[in-house]
Amino acid sequence: MFTFKGGTHINEYKLTKDFPTEKIGAPERVMISMSQHIGAPCTPTVAEGDRVLAGQVIGDVAPDKLGCPVHASVSGRVAGIEQILGASGMKETCVVIENDGTDEQFDGLAPFEGDITSATPDEIIDVIRSAGITGMGGAAFPSYAKIRSALGKADTVIVNCAECEPFITSDHRLLLEEPEHVVGGLKIIMIALGVKRAFIAVEDNKRDAAGVLRDTVGGGDMIRVCLMKTKYPQGDERQLIYALLKTELPMGMLPMDAGCVIFNAGTCSAIYDAFTSGLPLMKRIVTVSGDCVKKPGNYIVPLGMRVSEIVEKCGGLVKEPRKIIFGGPMMGKSEWSLNTPVKKGTSAILLLSEAFESKPVKDPECIRCGRCVKNCPMHLMPAYIAQYSRIGNMEMAKKFGAMSCVECGTCSYNCPAKIEIVQYIRSAKNNIKAEERRLAALKQSGS
Ligand code: SF4
Ligand code: SF4
Repeated sequence: MFTFKGGTHINEYKLTKDFPTEKIGAPERVMISMSQHIGAPCTPTVAEGDRVLAGQVIGDVAPDKLGCPVHASVSGRVAGIEQILGASGMKETCVVIENDGTDEQFDGLAPFEGDITSATPDEIIDVIRSAGITGMGGAAFPSYAKIRSALGKADTVIVNCAECEPFITSDHRLLLEEPEHVVGGLKIIMIALGVKRAFIAVEDNKRDAAGVLRDTVGGGDMIRVCLMKTKYPQGDERQLIYALLKTELPMGMLPMDAGCVIFNAGTCSAIYDAFTSGLPLMKRIVTVSGDCVKKPGNYIVPLGMRVSEIVEKCGGLVKEPRKIIFGGPMMGKSEWSLNTPVKKGTSAILLLSEAFESKPVKDPECIRCGRCVKNCPMHLMPAYIAQYSRIGNMEMAKKFGAMSCVECGTCSYNCPAKIEIVQYIRSAKNNIKAEERRLAALKQSGS
């Protein structure tokens, strides 16, 4: 079994793993954010009153900037361009579309013409950018840019199917229900990169999916389906590479430095769809779970549908949620309200009551048990970094490797003293980065 050093086994809460995906009816209005990916936000290419069709570009980024277009997920009329408060506390521009219910598709959507196996890297990259495909595991890095930067450097593609966060089962269902889409997308990426080796990494709590994938891959030794020990944070890129290749990536190095490029299962599937049906990324599977929702499940949701509307389709709330999390409870983002719309990177919406809240402890004290050190997948000394951050000594926090922390939260999860270690480290990282920016600005101004 493939695994890495450190990490921890956490309660899985995979309540929805046996629930087949269900299509959710599109709402009367969708609110599509122009900030769907890492990079520059899109600028709307439509205006209030315009009629748009499903799959039509409604926002794009200048070609010289990192980013890819956003498409309408329904057909209808643009009701307005609005600002909403995102999870980061920053305002985001949204295109609001009143759904006309006809689901009329944009004319220009067509499958890739010709033989994909002889397509050039540029042709493949163009299709992926035009389809607005980003990483669908949460980080939402534009996929065309990842492929372009790996050209001539990567010799291995890894499909990340670890899904190591509690609750989330959207990838698990995709692997079981549409394995040929995932494998098909992987093969297209391999053609673009001219790579002859790939791993599909699946945690061993999804053995059924691994079996289906092995049948789909068939013979040959280019693509290998690997079972990973179920342990958090197995889905972290550094841990995946170590588990599969026994190569350690120190901070500052990227997967590419180990010859690897990593894609999420949903991303591979979206790439396959773009080539075989011409469909851009305008819907995705979202796990809706937690103890506050009546009918948890895995739903195919159009981009821009709001949490409140999704919850309504799931039978409503059984109790008031204390937390609404987009993604997993370990690394996901807490959202402000039930009005937040689904984006390309929304793998799950968790509605959790206070039963899942860790009770804050007043002035917690470290008892030097060493658990945080033992479990840190980056082999850091989290207790020291947190303590230096707490007293404002950023120099020492940096010396102890604060910038190498991947913010997985394993240390906080295991701390018996209930110290919010990762919050202290996150704060240290922000302070260190701010100081570095300040010094760089001073240097640039010649002061
Ligand atoms: S110090 Fe960072 S990398 Fe290590 S366990 Fe804590 S959050 Fe994860
Ligand atoms: S796990 Fe908590 S109590 Fe134990 S050494 Fe780390 S910070 Fe201290």
